[in-house]
Amino acid sequence: MQTLTLALSKGRIFDEAMPLLNKIGIHLIHDIKHSRKLILATCEETLKIILVRAQDVPVYVRYGAAQLGIAGLDVLLEQGCEGIYQPISLPIAQCKLVVAAPKDKLADYATLSQQGRRLRVASKYPRLTENHFAKKGVYLDFIKLYGSIELAPLTGLSDVIVDLLETGQTFKANGLVEVELIHPISAQLIVNQTALKFNSVPINAFIQKLRKVVHE
Ligand code: ADP
Ligand code: MG
Repeated sequence: MQTLTLALSKGRIFDEAMPLLNKIGIHLIHDIKHSRKLILATCEETLKIILVRAQDVPVYVRYGAAQLGIAGLDVLLEQGCEGIYQPISLPIAQCKLVVAAPKDKLADYATLSQQGRRLRVASKYPRLTENHFAKKGVYLDFIKLYGSIELAPLTGLSDVIVDLLETGQTFKANGLVEVELIHPISAQLIVNQTALKFNSVPINAFIQKLRKVVHE
């Protein structure tokens, strides 16, 4: 029987996905706390888990190196979903993608975000940021960052940021407030479309089981 590979990212997605997988009877065989292994066996002989970077999960699934994956909707929207089927929205890694501005510069934002004005925006998400401001007719100076995005407006690098917001604590601690919602975000089960066609029985069985625990 053919083995299925499920791609997960370490950290939040792995930590929140494992309890869901446990509920459908998928358990890891070894304790991974002190392990550096990137391929993990499960109690289901036909399912293994691989650990990759969050942005790389859709890449593995798109090319079929993993038939299944769990990826943030932010990453999927940013990269595009070609060749990827997205059957279940999971109730994990829930947050929202927003525009945030320094709370003492809200009046500036109101002016700079008008049609025909120019705005400097720092973010990890070039495509989502460009789409959002194009719709508003705002000219964009986009500054690509890879982390600690909240620092950008505090240091004068940008006027505002586009970033994920969960509880708001990080924004609050850095004097930022949400000014616009771009998209609600949560983790998605993703499936390689070709694999689904040619190996539909075990993949559909997996989807059905997961769907059931998600809707319980
Ligand atoms: P990385 O920082 O390497 O992108 P994370 O584990 O922080 O990895 O993020 C993985 C995914 O988890 C993101 O793509 C997003 O969908 C989700 N996520 C990130 N930050 C948050 C957050 N603060 N609250 C909820 N979900 C989040
Ligand atoms: Mg992160």
